[in-house]
Amino acid sequence: SGRELSRGNEERIYVSVRLRPLNDTEISSNDVSDWESVSDDTIVYKNASLLASERSMQLTAYTVDRVFGSDCSTREVYQQGAKDVALSVVHGMNSTIFAYGQTSSGKTYTMTGITNYAIADIYEYIQTHPERDFILKFSAMEIYNESVRDLLSADSTPLRLLDDPERGTIVEKLTEEILTDRNHATQLLSVCEAQRQIGETSLNQMSSRSHHIIRLTIESSSHESLGRENASTLEAAVNFVDLAGSERTSQSLSAGTRLKEGCHINRSLLTLGTVIRKLSKERNGHIPYRDSKLTRILQTSLRGNARTAIICTMSPARSHAEQSRNTLLFASCAK
Ligand code: ADP
Ligand code: MG
Repeated sequence: SGRELSRGNEERIYVSVRLRPLNDTEISSNDVSDWESVSDDTIVYKNASLLASERSMQLTAYTVDRVFGSDCSTREVYQQGAKDVALSVVHGMNSTIFAYGQTSSGKTYTMTGITNYAIADIYEYIQTHPERDFILKFSAMEIYNESVRDLLSADSTPLRLLDDPERGTIVEKLTEEILTDRNHATQLLSVCEAQRQIGETSLNQMSSRSHHIIRLTIESSSHESLGRENASTLEAAVNFVDLAGSERTSQSLSAGTRLKEGCHINRSLLTLGTVIRKLSKERNGHIPYRDSKLTRILQTSLRGNARTAIICTMSPARSHAEQSRNTLLFASCAK
């Protein structure tokens, strides 16, 4: 059965796969669902109509930490695949939760739900720990073509990244709102959503090529420590990352297609793949965080004691089998 997220953090990257149900377009074009989760952590391709020569794909079983079938709710995905990682922020540990997958596989659907559940749980934690004072700060950004934009500001001027000797990479002039309560967070989430939509209408297909990061920074200190220079002040950030569609980095594209799409191939997504692979396999080697904006921004939330969860979303449809397979290859590499 699947590995539990809460079982220590000896492996820092928790990788799950979420299969969504067939959608109306897929159903009306007589597409069929070909993927089956054969256990809590393994998924296989089952296409009875394949020729014997094509069966190799079907023989491959992909194993990750957890597979969520198409009947799983976002709450279940959150509780088993993201909650512990998200909540580690209240204990002073940086963390990141990613949604990875091709366009229309369910990344935004999944990440929106997870962000809301996590914020609710963080506020519940705060309420049940009156012995500590908490300060929450909210910020949000979009990375498109290696250009960073503030999602809490109407000004779309690209933001610069600066290297701070103490805090690592910081996004210059990024709005940071101090949250008054949970409703304030909900309100800011809808501001971000509106900003995202503005971008989408002004630039075709931008949403599938851009990364969206919602960042919550939490500072806390105990009352007894007031007025003392002390070690009981904690500060950490949790990042909710809705990644660009993975189809553009697909290894399966023909050389010609890859060339044509060259200018759109997403440096941040490619670098993230390398960083994740290196983090999960050879933790001591050089990790190329600096090669992209996304990995620079997330660097302090990926390295060291930071905790990471990746939810790989996929369509069950036969017509998307090749992209789904690429997603599962990424998932297996991240494990
Ligand atoms: P992506 O962000 O990967 O492009 P979306 O999250 O926008 O994909 O999902 C595409 C469509 O499928 C949306 O209409 C969304 O509501 C729906 N959808 C995605 N995942 C699920 C799911 N698990 N259950 C039901 N509907 C889903
Ligand atoms: Mg989306």
